[in-house]
Amino acid sequence: MSRLHLAIQKSGRLADQSRELLKQAGIKVQDTKTGLTARATNFPLDLMLVRDDDIPTFVGDGVCELGIVGLNVLEEYRLGQDDDVEIIARLGFGSCKLMIACHENEAFEIASLEGKRIATSYPRMTRHFLAEKGIDAETVTMQGAVELAPRLGIADYVCDLVSSGQTLEANGLKPVDTVLESESVLVRTLKPVDGAMAELVDALKARTDGVIATSESKYIVLNAPENALADITRILPGAEAPTVMPLLGRQGQVAVQAVCRESVFWETLEELKVAGARDILVMPIEKMML
Ligand code: ATP
Ligand code: ZN
Repeated sequence: MSRLHLAIQKSGRLADQSRELLKQAGIKVQDTKTGLTARATNFPLDLMLVRDDDIPTFVGDGVCELGIVGLNVLEEYRLGQDDDVEIIARLGFGSCKLMIACHENEAFEIASLEGKRIATSYPRMTRHFLAEKGIDAETVTMQGAVELAPRLGIADYVCDLVSSGQTLEANGLKPVDTVLESESVLVRTLKPVDGAMAELVDALKARTDGVIATSESKYIVLNAPENALADITRILPGAEAPTVMPLLGRQGQVAVQAVCRESVFWETLEELKVAGARDILVMPIEKMML
């Protein structure tokens, strides 16, 4: 019987959440002795535990049908290559931005980059960005510690990943322009796979789609006057047709139930209350098959 191959980061910022996603999808994983692979015990799936930079290559070559990788790594790979990898889901974790940064005291404008040197681990994306802006500048490729480049005199600017901005700040730099907004994505190979494997890819994707939808969705139950229904339906975030039921012994009052596909904030509840809703319950959804 065929088994799916999924490449994930062995260790690092995406490793835990990639495994957590599988866990939430009901897939149990057992590591092997080599530490290079892991095996799912209740789904026909083998994990390849690799460096994130190698994931697009594994998937592009078809060694793995699927992979979980940052959009930043994927886009850098894609710019040097024919299309052989396709994004099939955005996973919502590992969010960060690839940004140009300059000295903290500089009054930066995009034209400042003209003729300068920019240190980065993402030379293709940086060059693509510069070309789009019509700027002629040089990139200096570094594998790590990019933020040290200006101080070492290797470059004038950097183009690096930023989440909180603390690393830049600690090095006297500030982010000034965004090259890419990144998050982790589920990718599949564009190499042909046989029918059984295609079915497994779809089955795994259905599970991960369910996990993503569930994490964002809530089930809302409330009571309201019938004449407030139009307002209430409008306020419910990302809800399709809600279920409406009469309330026994309460003329003109109804119970409303809906799956909300977007975050439900306290402000949403306050708005619902102003619209006439009472006894509002917001419940987590454990599983969802769309
Ligand atoms: P590997 O050993 O697998 O090559 P790495 O050191 O290249 O790991 P990590 O630092 O673990 O990579 O980051 C993995 C991914 O996490 C990044 O490619 C990016 O998509 C995401 N990420 C989120 N926030 C940040 C951040 N502040 N800095 C770097 N990467 C981040
Ligand atoms: Zn890496």
